[in-house]
Amino acid sequence: MPSIFSKIINREIPADIVFEDEVCMAFRDINPQAPVHVVIIPKKEIRSLADIAPADKEILGHLLVSAAKIAEKLKIDKNGYRVVINTNDDGGQTVFHIHLHLLGGRALKWPPG
Ligand code: 5GP
Repeated sequence: MPSIFSKIINREIPADIVFEDEVCMAFRDINPQAPVHVVIIPKKEIRSLADIAPADKEILGHLLVSAAKIAEKLKIDKNGYRVVINTNDDGGQTVFHIHLHLLGGRALKWPPG
């Protein structure tokens, strides 16, 4: 099922894109929870982490490698950051196109709410 993120990939709605390649796209979250809050999505439509197939492992690895690259580009790598995948309702997922949240620019609390 296409979500709002498909519209961002297709440039039907605008986003502040910080990174893009053939596999993924990363853009600033519209409702940031930290000074740096980037959403990293695969171009392939995958509903959630609970819906991945073994064949998706390259894509998932690519998302993590991209997260590290983007953290470096946005200069949060030295101080540190957090990568989160909210999954389904109890995980707090609201957009059903799998995505990584990259959060940084301040000290983050643990455990999350
Ligand atoms: P989730 O709650 O599914 O883990 O994360 C979805 C995230 O997407 C939320 O943090 C929300 O603020 C962000 N988001 C939802 N719609 C849009 C949008 O149209 N543009 C951008 N840039 N972010 C969005």
